[in-house]
Amino acid sequence: MALLRHIGIDVDGVLRDLATPLIQVFEREHPRLAGRHVPVEQWPAWSGFEQYFPPGVDLAALTAAHLEEIWVGAPAYPDVAAFVAGVPREWVIHIVTTQLSDVTAGYTREWLDRHGIRVPDDRFHVTARKGEVPIDLLLDDVAGNLEAARENGIVPVCRDRPWNGDWTGLRIAALPDLFPLVTRIEAG
Ligand SMILES: [Mg+2]
Repeated sequence: MALLRHIGIDVDGVLRDLATPLIQVFEREHPRLAGRHVPVEQWPAWSGFEQYFPPGVDLAALTAAHLEEIWVGAPAYPDVAAFVAGVPREWVIHIVTTQLSDVTAGYTREWLDRHGIRVPDDRFHVTARKGEVPIDLLLDDVAGNLEAARENGIVPVCRDRPWNGDWTGLRIAALPDLFPLVTRIEAG
């Protein structure tokens, strides 16, 4: 296979852990319901995650009221630092993310800066149509995005999360696993 140089990296569920601050805000704002959400390890899908919280909790309103705290303050997953440090020099990293709004897109840029992940504007793609981004490979945590990539000739690689067990293609358990995987794909 041709060399994979333009590497697209999703943010949420791959680099940034949005679930943790979401649960923290939920428990702080609804202390009597604390602990009554479904544990993240048991979330079978990411879309519709409102269903993992007790009925009557307006998660959209909760999110809207604490956007900056959640989007900027979210932790990086533990393997992000090793990944950032190990990216091969010949790779051209693109960020490929779907966001709620221009506001969360801006917070996402800020979050990436804080975590040492800096790309120029033309490689910061905010889109729900990830198959249309000019990349050779997409690393993502949502099967629908990976399928869209595959349909457009982009190599799809899934980052293991509880909510993507339905993806049957290539997957990695930790971000640095992408380095040897790309080498293997290229050797094809
Ligand atoms: Mg994602």
